[in-house]
Amino acid sequence: MTQFITDTDILASYKTDASGLFGSPDAIARPRDYQDLKEIVLTCLQSQTAITPIGGLSSTTGAPLAPYGLALDCTQLTGIIDLDIASDSKSATALIYPGTNLQTLKTTLETEGWYYPPDPTSASSCTLGGTVSTNASGPGSYQYGSTHRWVEAIHMLDGAGQEQHWQRNQVEKITLGYRFLANPLDLIIGSEGTLGVFTRIQIRLIRPPEQRTGILTFFSSLSDLLVFLQAACQQERYPAYCLEGFDAPALSLVTTSLTSTPPTDSLAIYLEIEHTGDVTTDKILSHWLPLLEANALVEHTSIFQSPQDFRDIYNWRQIIPSLMNTQGKIATASGGKKHSTDWCVPLNQLQNMFTFVDQILTDADLLDLPHIRYGHFGNGHPHHNFITRNPDEDKRLTKLLPQLYQQAINLGGTFVAEHGVGKLKAPYLKKLLDKKLFEAGRNIKQIFDPQGLMAPGNIWGDSKELFT
Ligand SMILES: Cc1cc2nc3c(=O)[nH]c(=O)nc-3n(C[C@H](O)[C@H](O)[C@H](O)COP(=O)(O)OP(=O)(O)OC[C@H]3O[C@@H](n4cnc5c(N)ncnc54)[C@H](O)[C@@H]3O)c2cc1C
Repeated sequence: MTQFITDTDILASYKTDASGLFGSPDAIARPRDYQDLKEIVLTCLQSQTAITPIGGLSSTTGAPLAPYGLALDCTQLTGIIDLDIASDSKSATALIYPGTNLQTLKTTLETEGWYYPPDPTSASSCTLGGTVSTNASGPGSYQYGSTHRWVEAIHMLDGAGQEQHWQRNQVEKITLGYRFLANPLDLIIGSEGTLGVFTRIQIRLIRPPEQRTGILTFFSSLSDLLVFLQAACQQERYPAYCLEGFDAPALSLVTTSLTSTPPTDSLAIYLEIEHTGDVTTDKILSHWLPLLEANALVEHTSIFQSPQDFRDIYNWRQIIPSLMNTQGKIATASGGKKHSTDWCVPLNQLQNMFTFVDQILTDADLLDLPHIRYGHFGNGHPHHNFITRNPDEDKRLTKLLPQLYQQAINLGGTFVAEHGVGKLKAPYLKKLLDKKLFEAGRNIKQIFDPQGLMAPGNIWGDSKELFT
């Protein structure tokens, strides 16, 4: 029997995610199985109650925050339903319930000898459903791409109460008209709950790499780092599977040292190579050394090989976003906050984008604003995060953001690379997306959600204001 919870203490725990916005659900439901979920969804649709699906609530854009109506917590729908191994046993597919915690899923699959590459740094706090709904990505996306590459099929209960089951078309040659008809998954991956609730997701698995080698190295200037980065991307033998960058202000947040102390104001790249067990670290290094010697401060380079090494470097990297989050929270007391941009440009435009941002900050007299650039440099996707310290700085920075986002688009990129649109970026989408494309997107939503009840406010805006 479906239970709708209205206890105010429980409701309170569904009012926040990692965006700084506040939701306001009228009720919560936590379905335990598919039948339960279906009953809840149909009951809501019949009574015209809005439904916002919820995973791990780790979104940075307010996407899982219900502005009103039901917060539909999917985290009890967990587990692997079926594992289907290909005849050559090199790959497999697995059918999974959407509320399964991503890290638990990856670890369970690894013990069975399988690897699911999507690796958002929030893996321990997010669900498979949430990552498919936002097309999440992570450091390994440099080689493996975003979540969408790894989804084979989705079962969804749409906003009309109908069950949809779509799967990836397996042929390369297909001329079915509009591209999304060739792969209908392209329509629903990234839909942020606006079309329906995912009930089961089939993902593709591969065998894990036998061995990994990590290299952390430092640079005395941004231009040296960018020259290295361009060359690293061309490396054919033992290529990097992730290429992460850190500017000096980002490094200054980390007090744990993993190398001999580099000069003040240096920048860093962390890269990782996957290889077979018979390839020695010396062999890997012999291929990378000329490039390192040409651009990096080689004497401050560290090598990572053991599971403990990888835990250390992972924790080292994690300090940066968590300290920025803390600083952001502190700043709210004086009327400021953390602004996380999510822009991405082609790698050869990274320098241009950095120059542009510095210029608009200089023109607005905001260059001294605390800001850091770290993350997926290899994808042209550094997290460029700012802390405003008072309402005036906040107003002035907020005014610059549309220019910054427009420039990312002008350079051939995007202003939402990884974290989705949610409610936070919806006003920018309306402003920056071509009007006809915007209209086409909204019309598609209406086909699957004729009453406009699914995840109101996400992507297309138009929800009641969420409080910041
Ligand atoms: C510290 C930190 C680090 C992060 N790092 C990364 C990163 O490296 N890469 C990255 O891409 N993101 C990152 N994120 C953002 C966030 O973790 C991702 O967007 C993640 O995919 C959200 O998953 P979730 O399960 O928490 O979903 P939620 O936040 O609960 O919801 C996200 C969206 O998914 C929808 N949804 C959830 N379940 C379902 C379902 N069953 N059916 C339909 N829709 C559903 C919700 O309606 C919402 O629109 C980070 C966040 C934090 C706080």
